[in-house]
Amino acid sequence: MLKSLLSLFLKPNCSLCDRSADDILCKDCQRQIKSCQFKNPRQFWQGEHPLFAWGEYGGQLKRAIATLKYDKHPELGTYLGQWIGETWIKLPPSFSPKKISVVPIPIHAEKLKQRGFNQADLIAEGFSHMTGYPLIKNGLERIKKTEAMFGLNPTEREKNIKNAFKIGQGLQKPSSLPVLLLDDIYTSGQTVKEAAKTLRSHGVQVLGVVALSTPKLVN
Ligand SMILES: [Zn+2]
Repeated sequence: MLKSLLSLFLKPNCSLCDRSADDILCKDCQRQIKSCQFKNPRQFWQGEHPLFAWGEYGGQLKRAIATLKYDKHPELGTYLGQWIGETWIKLPPSFSPKKISVVPIPIHAEKLKQRGFNQADLIAEGFSHMTGYPLIKNGLERIKKTEAMFGLNPTEREKNIKNAFKIGQGLQKPSSLPVLLLDDIYTSGQTVKEAAKTLRSHGVQVLGVVALSTPKLVN
């Protein structure tokens, strides 16, 4: 009796629509976000920086990412990260080496202080939890304050992100494990390119990037 009463009070509301829910998200929001999911998350897994993208950046997925970051709902990050992990297990890219480590794209220390968390860390936690891949949270450090990539042209983007990273404490010692980068939104690929460059210059093998979302037309 007490237990059921307690569970009634402790029942969380949906992080997106605030209606009562059995999980982080109510069934309705889950369904709406899943409607943004790519049928083939491996469609961009090619070239020098292969991309595994869970869903299209738009609709409720876009809203969920904004809620996670700006309305401070960190629980959404780990939750959606688990969804990516489930998809990865079901539809892994063809190479699929057994041992991989996961390195989230870091945000600048000032932004971290402001926001309280790095959304990529949280998504990576959920992803690592599902896949069992070890997570190296501080594999990279962001040493340059960059502008949001949206609204910048390709040249500005390149300049904006140039030399933005340095190797973090987690990868000071040479690692034999190949790395998967992880980010919330993949836009032009410049961020990933720059992060991969930093890792490779320290002898770290970079397999590609896992992103929660990407606009349909990636350039
Ligand atoms: Zn909801």
